[in-house]
Amino acid sequence: MFVCELKRDIKTLTGVGKKTKDDYANLGIETLSDLVQMTPRGYEDRSHRICIGRQNETDGSWTNTFVKVESVSEFGSGRKNVKIIVRDTENNQKAFLMGFNRTYLSKTVFPGCFYHLYANVTVYGTGLTASQFELKPVREEDLIAGDLALDQGILPVYPLCGTLTQKALRRDVKAVLSSIGHIDDEIPESLIQKHHLMPLDRAFREIHFPSSDKALSEARRALAFREVFYLQLEAKRRPQAARRRQAIPSRIYEAEKHFIEKLPFSLTDDQIKVLDEIRKDMSGSESMNRLLQGDVGSGKTLVAWVSALHAICDGAQVAFMAPTELLARQHAQVADQLFKDSGISVAFLNGEVHGKPRQALLDQLKAGNIDLLIGTHALFSKDVEYRNLRYVIIDEQHRFGVEQRHALFEKGIEPDVLLMTATPIPRTLALTVFGNLNVSTIKTMPKGRLPVITYLVDDSKRDKMYEAVGVEMKRGHQAYFVYPRIDDEGKSDLRDVETMYQFLSREKYPSFRGTLIHSRLPEDEKIRILNDFASGKLDYLVSTSVVEVGIDVPNATCMVVEHSENFGLSALHQLRGRVGRSSLQSWCFLAYEKTITEDGKKRLSVLRRTNDGFEIAEEDLKIRGPGELSGLRQSGFLHLKFADLEKDVSMMATARDEVDAILAQDPGLLSLENSVIRKVLSIG
Ligand code: ADP
Ligand code: MG
Repeated sequence: MFVCELKRDIKTLTGVGKKTKDDYANLGIETLSDLVQMTPRGYEDRSHRICIGRQNETDGSWTNTFVKVESVSEFGSGRKNVKIIVRDTENNQKAFLMGFNRTYLSKTVFPGCFYHLYANVTVYGTGLTASQFELKPVREEDLIAGDLALDQGILPVYPLCGTLTQKALRRDVKAVLSSIGHIDDEIPESLIQKHHLMPLDRAFREIHFPSSDKALSEARRALAFREVFYLQLEAKRRPQAARRRQAIPSRIYEAEKHFIEKLPFSLTDDQIKVLDEIRKDMSGSESMNRLLQGDVGSGKTLVAWVSALHAICDGAQVAFMAPTELLARQHAQVADQLFKDSGISVAFLNGEVHGKPRQALLDQLKAGNIDLLIGTHALFSKDVEYRNLRYVIIDEQHRFGVEQRHALFEKGIEPDVLLMTATPIPRTLALTVFGNLNVSTIKTMPKGRLPVITYLVDDSKRDKMYEAVGVEMKRGHQAYFVYPRIDDEGKSDLRDVETMYQFLSREKYPSFRGTLIHSRLPEDEKIRILNDFASGKLDYLVSTSVVEVGIDVPNATCMVVEHSENFGLSALHQLRGRVGRSSLQSWCFLAYEKTITEDGKKRLSVLRRTNDGFEIAEEDLKIRGPGELSGLRQSGFLHLKFADLEKDVSMMATARDEVDAILAQDPGLLSLENSVIRKVLSIG
């Protein structure tokens, strides 16, 4: 069985209910296959004892040892924090464990008892301290008898969402790995031999629960090879099929000129340049395959609309794909507005429309009565047939992976493709991956934009921040308040949306109109709220990160992010990009808790220092350092799960050579040796 054939829904796992399913869905995990193919974002090496004081901060290793607890005391306002003093049973070193907001510790940890400690002990002042730690009770007799092993192996650390915990994820992944059968290899046997690749079945098991560092790196290499192999194969097969049409002279249609003149602003030089590049591509003899990069708010979407109009004037149907439902709807509304007098028919397709209305829409599409179809990846579902799809625009291409490309191929379509991204990709890397990908860049922001001013806000400055936002709202401007969670069930102290909304609406802004928006609301409700916000009926939104990507409300001037230390750099940059979208001065407040780590502080200071998305992406890479997910990969560029655009450049070249050799010898992939490729392609 191939891994992608594990189509069972994640909710069929014991212990996965509706809520957990939603959290998984937010991580892009819906099936067992997705779960198995999820990459840990790091590992905890608990394979041997590391006594207190012996941890190596530079390689990030944590203390992994047995301790005796000397004392447990509560401190801080409301006695919410717990201080535990422990001593290592081997070297007698002392450490202070600071449990911020972990009151339960004083009821579960007892002086005189023994524990297994896993902690990020660091030198703080004159002592050794840890604020992130796990204590598990052990029996003194077992300890003395030497019956206890510290070897828990190397444990995966996964990206989390909502109420998911590492423990739950590890349990679920383990359960799946032990219940499924053998995972088949996906590349020809001869290549596996030649490049000494670990069999896929073992690689998937090792990537989650490595038996050693060496096995882990071999597993990663095998998975990355498989990934880039198919990426290259896709890239190579594409132009062969594409070189079909006749070149025509590039032109600008009257309708385009008219459309541009009617805009309330003039295009920036970069927008004009990019549009020229796109028009040239579209009139060339090969299909366009272009990446449009530009920082958030630089006006990429507008370029997309003009280019769509161009293609439609050429007689094409256009599909515009957004990464989320919400964004797709917003785009559809904007397009309705923009194209309303132009005789162009715009439609919105989503996965939730069923039955007759869907059929009616699909019939119109097939008949060619719809020029521009906007939606999520539902645009390429099996039942969707186009009459003449010649142009596909993909906004913030998070999810446009190899799978969607397949879907297009299967429809026998070779459209022009424009990928838009706010995450800058070095050109050399892009070229290595897609031989024939062209890159356009919008460097300048629209005229009159003022850089967003960013403040880092700790507890002592929080009231000032609320005051400043109040002043902005009095001026008729709008604000976002973003929190990492939906509701607080007492498990954590994160300022959650619901309680904070109560607090803001009652205590801080009783005279302003605000509302709550989060991912668990029905789609219709969300879109209604965003419309009210966009039309100025609401002064502020309190939300989870649903506003992260693409929402465009130029009158909003304040972005407040609570627990900003819990967000990644690129997510924060995207959030900040929601303001500063007009000539008004805007502000971004990044509020953080005192439990913030050193890395967290470094991350936030990068945002304070610069508004440049390119610099932020690079800093992100530096801070994460080697061994962790690369910022590019995490941002979803190309949807790479295992390979690393920077570290695996030579592997990509190797894979490309192999692909070239295969396609040269066996273009139809008909040989027995290549039958596995054919199978994978038709299943994927
Ligand atoms: P992106 O997709 O790159 O994040 P958008 O296309 O959404 O950016 O543009 C952000 C905002 O700037 C939108 O409100 C858009 O109407 C506006 N905008 C786009 N181009 C210009 C321009 N040349 N001058 C002024 N405003 C512009
Ligand atoms: Mg955009």
